[in-house]
Amino acid sequence: MSVANGRALLAIPGPTNVPDRVLQAMMRPAEELASDTICNLTETLLADLKKVFRTKGETFLYAANGHGGWEAALTNVLSRGDKILTLASGRFAVGWGEMARFMGADVEVLAGSWRAAVDPAALEERLRQDVRHEIKAVLTVQIDTASGVVNDIPAIRRAIDAAGHPALLMVDGVASLGCMPFEMDEWGVDVAMSASQKGLMTPPGLAFVAAGEKALAAHQNATMRTGYWDWTARMNPLLYMKHCGTPPEHLMFGLRAALDMIFGEGLEAVWRRHALLAGATRAAVSKWVEGQVLTYNVEEPAQRAPSVTTILFQGDPTMITDYTRKVCGVTLGLAIGDLTGKGFRIAHMGHVNAPMVLGSLSAVEMALQAQNIPHGSGGVAAAIAHLSEGARNGAA
Ligand SMILES: *Cc1c(COP(=O)(O)O)cnc(C)c1O
Repeated sequence: MSVANGRALLAIPGPTNVPDRVLQAMMRPAEELASDTICNLTETLLADLKKVFRTKGETFLYAANGHGGWEAALTNVLSRGDKILTLASGRFAVGWGEMARFMGADVEVLAGSWRAAVDPAALEERLRQDVRHEIKAVLTVQIDTASGVVNDIPAIRRAIDAAGHPALLMVDGVASLGCMPFEMDEWGVDVAMSASQKGLMTPPGLAFVAAGEKALAAHQNATMRTGYWDWTARMNPLLYMKHCGTPPEHLMFGLRAALDMIFGEGLEAVWRRHALLAGATRAAVSKWVEGQVLTYNVEEPAQRAPSVTTILFQGDPTMITDYTRKVCGVTLGLAIGDLTGKGFRIAHMGHVNAPMVLGSLSAVEMALQAQNIPHGSGGVAAAIAHLSEGARNGAA
């Protein structure tokens, strides 16, 4: 039988659970598109996005998903024929590079592993070889949602600097912004982008891009620019120009509520909550892997992302994901890309608390037990112990 009725839980790495307060903020009539309300909403959102990206640079908000945000970031700083370097650590930086290739960039992939973070030394070495500075931009993700890897962005910046290379550093923070520290200015990130539906707890449909000084200077000479994404148009004080047409009003009201929730909790506290919940997830997984048929995809513990955990399974992973969905009402992510058919993903990202993460973990443990899948017992108990300890110490 099923015990799935009740509130359904999304434990996929995007879209994530949308808070009721965000949904309620969107339940309102449409507004005249250049009303004071919409003008103020646009201004506060662009200003508050700077606080989330931690930048004094410019922020841009688009009616688009993350792929649109990728395109927005590229088109504004590159020219056709520019060489760019994407740093592989799973699926997403490579995917971003594929978008750039469509747009006319000459894309090189710095080979990496599906099971490990970008190696800054390999990047430094590649950039040192580029004595004529043909590489215009380096593309990386902070968290790769497919592999479950977290990259060390400051170390990547140091590698670029150590090579004395002028390339722009462009970072995808779709699965990390609002989930873990990101310090755009302090870390020397030139362009950062993200989207609404992961750590930022808003329905899909908004993309965000932040640009530092060096990126804004590159923008002046970029020939890939197109009308919809163009920063120059969007820096115009006229609201209609800022959105290149009608603003996505309802999503913006939702985002306003989500950002109010994040600032209400405190951005650093949000990061700590994610770290603690990720720790609880790992406490459980570390027990399950003792059965030898489940393994962490990311081998090095320090490289495991705080927003999503990718687990490999020597068997059909839908045995686990179908069970949790049908019997428990918990939707997990299947592994994607090179890992398709080889595992599943548990997201602990965005609007999640202890019972939600414990619920997802319990559903997985039920699936393992019910189907006699070998696993070390006591995963959920270990997660609870981790949470109670962490909550007492106020740290992860
Ligand atoms: C989800 C995701 C994207 C793509 O976002 P879409 O809204 O699905 O286009 C890009 N990068 C990362 C790291 C992601 O997790």
